[in-house]
Amino acid sequence: MRVYNFSAGPAMLPEEVLKRAADEMLEYGESGQSVMEMSHRSKEYGEIIASVEAKLRELMAIPDNYKVLFLQGGASSQFAMVPMNLMNKNNKADFVLSGQWSNKAYQEASRYGKCTVVASSKDKVYSYIPEIDESKLDPEADYFHICYNNTIYGTRFTSLPDTKGVPIVADMSSCILSEPVDVSQFGLIYAGAQKNMGPAGLTVVIIREDLIGNAMDITPTMFNYQIHADNGSMYNTPPTYGIYILGLVLDWVKEKGGLEAMKEINEKKAKLLYDCLDESKLFKATVSGKDRSIMNVPFVTGSDELDAKFVKEAKAAGLINIKGHRSVGGMRASIYNAMPYEGVEKLVEFIRKFEAENV
Ligand SMILES: *Cc1c(COP(=O)(O)O)cnc(C)c1O
Repeated sequence: MRVYNFSAGPAMLPEEVLKRAADEMLEYGESGQSVMEMSHRSKEYGEIIASVEAKLRELMAIPDNYKVLFLQGGASSQFAMVPMNLMNKNNKADFVLSGQWSNKAYQEASRYGKCTVVASSKDKVYSYIPEIDESKLDPEADYFHICYNNTIYGTRFTSLPDTKGVPIVADMSSCILSEPVDVSQFGLIYAGAQKNMGPAGLTVVIIREDLIGNAMDITPTMFNYQIHADNGSMYNTPPTYGIYILGLVLDWVKEKGGLEAMKEINEKKAKLLYDCLDESKLFKATVSGKDRSIMNVPFVTGSDELDAKFVKEAKAAGLINIKGHRSVGGMRASIYNAMPYEGVEKLVEFIRKFEAENV
């Protein structure tokens, strides 16, 4: 029996996608082979990767002056790749610290240039998105970095500052495809696939063309955006199967009505869960107000013992991976695109039942 998996990542994939992948596992089309076995230089695979890029461009309305790159190394590699490629004009960048991932991006970039923290929410365990004072932003920074959705702390940006032309770089690992975004507001968007796009091993980078071609001399060839852009993500073997699965996920998103429809259902799922937590006398969401993520919902009882009991009993009820990140404790329900509304309904029912039995 399939469970409802609330993991932060790798996370659930739509069942329709898994079934189609299973159907095509032994033979893709008339090719006589699995996609996993195909040469990345074959005609069949060339058509797959081109169609996946076209679908992503269509769904996200990616403007023509942006390149889409299919890379490896996870979002974590982007923490180094971004500065190596972008921080080479004035050798400085601005960062908002809104959680552990943005911290890691800041730490890594600091090895390659002057990085400034322009806002932070560390004082309250990253439970809110800090106000950004635009007068503090460096107009000469090579980029301005944010983590758009904070997977661990359950917060998200709902507006962007006016950076006066400084390119905004956003880590969208845990929210890409969850709602429409205006790509033209960003210089670069990156995301590991394993939250909302497909299996681990694929990293998607969407980069404005004028930001390509300025890599530092020390940049390893494999870390140079130019190399990947010039070679259509085929400089070396790309994560071929992950790209194919992303294509199936994009077909699924499109069938469901695209990113507007994703946003609507995701907001509905999040509201159901937050309303339940807000009404509860035992449970409490750790984030309040407009900064609440619609993808990752951390919550606590206030008792480590009850939290552990909840996680254990939830698992027995088929609601798995609901334990909070080790740095926050408590619980966290990740409710990405592939989590069905019924999964959140089941969780809400379980929360109410647990509360009735434990207060
Ligand atoms: C999961 C995650 C990462 C790390 O991704 P890897 O692919 O494991 O490197 C970075 N940023 C955010 C926002 C994430 O959710």
